[in-house]
Amino acid sequence: MKILEIYPCLQGEGLLTGVPTVLVRTAGCNLDCVWCDTRYSIKPDPKEVTTYSPEELINHIDQEYSEFRYVMITGGEPMIQKDIYDFISLIESKVHVTVETNGTIIPIEQVCFVNLWSVSPKLSSTNIAHLDRDVDYKFWIGLYEKQKNVQMKFVLAGMGDYREMRNVLTGPYGSLLNWGDMPIILQPAALEGKDIGDRMKFVECEMLNDGEHWKKYNVRLMIQQHKIAWESERLR
Ligand code: SF4
Repeated sequence: MKILEIYPCLQGEGLLTGVPTVLVRTAGCNLDCVWCDTRYSIKPDPKEVTTYSPEELINHIDQEYSEFRYVMITGGEPMIQKDIYDFISLIESKVHVTVETNGTIIPIEQVCFVNLWSVSPKLSSTNIAHLDRDVDYKFWIGLYEKQKNVQMKFVLAGMGDYREMRNVLTGPYGSLLNWGDMPIILQPAALEGKDIGDRMKFVECEMLNDGEHWKKYNVRLMIQQHKIAWESERLR
């Protein structure tokens, strides 16, 4: 597996915000979002990448971070790593595993048991063609129905993102899907030079105005905690 960095942190996003976690960042991504906050992971400098077998990576985590109960695999896009399935299968009985993914690559059945799939569909503000960032919502909803292990996390970077996301969920296609009580997290992007307070307020007002739309969704607004604490500082 091509790994860019491994370090301990407090989970900064989603339902597990604040939980001490070992972050494993894989190298490379199948997308290239304009506002990506880890651009160095998309096409990383080979000098920064370490190759591990799944067993070596698990041994490294065991040795360095044995006190941690939570591991998050993020990227880049972890699902493009060819050994990702072996890695997950070997580690899942030892710790709580979160996989952060853009949701464009459907996992094979055997790894659907990870503790939490944190799926972050990309919207138009990424500047990625629709076909390339397409997410099979039906698959992720089906997985959630069976295993309750999916959170859908929308990063709202552009002013139009809120309405686009609302359309995904409540429009002609989304409203026919059974979202049930799947956690849906709206997360204004903490972008450099923009006031996150203003962005949070904007989304909050939109959500309250749209109360009727959200009645049947388990939706919530959350902040990117690590961005507030560390801004754009790279931790390792
Ligand atoms: S999918 Fe994520 S890691 Fe990949 S380019 Fe977009 S924001 Fe960056």
